[in-house]
Amino acid sequence: MTDTKPDNALRALPSVDKLLGRAEAAFLIDGHGRRAVVDTLRATLETLRRDVLAGDAGDLSDEKVIALAADRLEAEARSSLTPVFNLTGTVIHTNLGRAPMPAAALAAIERTAQSAANVEYDLDRGKRGDRDDHLENLICRLTGAEAATTVNNNAAAVLLVLNTLAQRKEVPVSRGELIEIGGSFRIPDIMKRAGCKLVEVGTTNRTHLKDFAGAVSARTALLMKVHTSNYAVEGFTKAVPEEDMAALAREHGLPFIVDLGSGTLVDFRTYGLPYEPTPQDTLKQGADLVTFSGDKLLGGPQAGIIAGRADLVAKIKKNPMKRALRNDKMIIAALDAVLRLYLDPDRLCQRLPVLRLLTRPVDDIRDSAERLAPALQHHLGDAFTVAIEDCQSQIGSGSLPVERLPSAALALTPTAKRGSGAALKGLAVAFRQLPRPVIGRIHGGAFILDLRCLEDEAAFLEQLQSCFDPKGPRP
Ligand SMILES: *Cc1c(COP(=O)(O)O)cnc(C)c1O
Repeated sequence: MTDTKPDNALRALPSVDKLLGRAEAAFLIDGHGRRAVVDTLRATLETLRRDVLAGDAGDLSDEKVIALAADRLEAEARSSLTPVFNLTGTVIHTNLGRAPMPAAALAAIERTAQSAANVEYDLDRGKRGDRDDHLENLICRLTGAEAATTVNNNAAAVLLVLNTLAQRKEVPVSRGELIEIGGSFRIPDIMKRAGCKLVEVGTTNRTHLKDFAGAVSARTALLMKVHTSNYAVEGFTKAVPEEDMAALAREHGLPFIVDLGSGTLVDFRTYGLPYEPTPQDTLKQGADLVTFSGDKLLGGPQAGIIAGRADLVAKIKKNPMKRALRNDKMIIAALDAVLRLYLDPDRLCQRLPVLRLLTRPVDDIRDSAERLAPALQHHLGDAFTVAIEDCQSQIGSGSLPVERLPSAALALTPTAKRGSGAALKGLAVAFRQLPRPVIGRIHGGAFILDLRCLEDEAAFLEQLQSCFDPKGPRP
């Protein structure tokens, strides 16, 4: 029994030393280390002291205090970064870490990360080497470029290209391509940070070659085209084809650069997907440099790839900013492994998760829905009905913004009309609080789980079985 008078209750609180003498504490120290256990016991006692002073004293036994401390230690031991099930219907989801990595890349990361590696060491000559050497040949082989380099991400690639080739000079860009990718990547802002002056050309929906021709002056550094990756301008539109831009650039002795954004290395049409411009096509159309992401359609780690003319790449490599934007050995290893998968296009679909998910047949997804629906209904009880619905997945991350992929979803609808909004929100919270959080979306009065990206059905089911309780918070 706890004394309800604060002074007496405070005296009833055990000391840290006394708690440390208990067997449970030894067990905790084994798991978390002495320092963490001592700190957490102290913090737990402090919280209880405050509760007591607020007249809120509960059970102050040694067992209770240690149990509270154990909960805290457990919670603090969990990283806030954790795998989730992406059932949003957006395959390459920037907020959910974009491309899942292929097994070959994971193995390469492990191999390279756990020991010293010749990142910048030339084994033939026994001298300092260049970290770009590990990827350059492969990128050139796959894209047809003369030279290539890689940086931290595509935003960095664009920044570095502009800063190297256009500092204190002008860059004309079509008004239809002044994109914002999300976060703070906006072409006009990047231009400013790169130290160059954006010259807006044409109109939002229509830009002609003559608009570009009229914008070129002695102050022009290069011509630039930006792939409008996350939206489409439809209707009365015109953009200048790459070939025409390239010809105009050549006429004035200027480089023509294209920011592709996504950058797949294969013709998506051969996999039954809508066409997305590739670096190799764009270089063939006359671009002097292309930039693209490593973790969008390419399906690899976060990286930015710059490929094209050797003299321009050489200049870019000499920019001191390159050092601040470079990739570490794990990224180089992973990117190398992913690029190698492209050397065997026949098996790319099975080996590269992004492509496997994008090309997953709708029948296969529907079968998965049929298997999961009854189990989910069982765990949810009467409060929600589970139905299988056709839906449309998005490719995501600004790739092919208007294209949709037919898919199948589980739609969870509250049985009671009254309070259904709150019930849906509560359900979404409960799914997010699972050990491996499930991220879906609320749409049209239902909680929708698009199953396209659910490859591990067993893991999904198992956690429902072991701990799903939509009525309460984390079990
Ligand atoms: C996504 C994108 C970027 C930014 O690439 P990150 O790899 O996310 O830095 C730049 N330009 C275009 C056109 C894009 O689609």
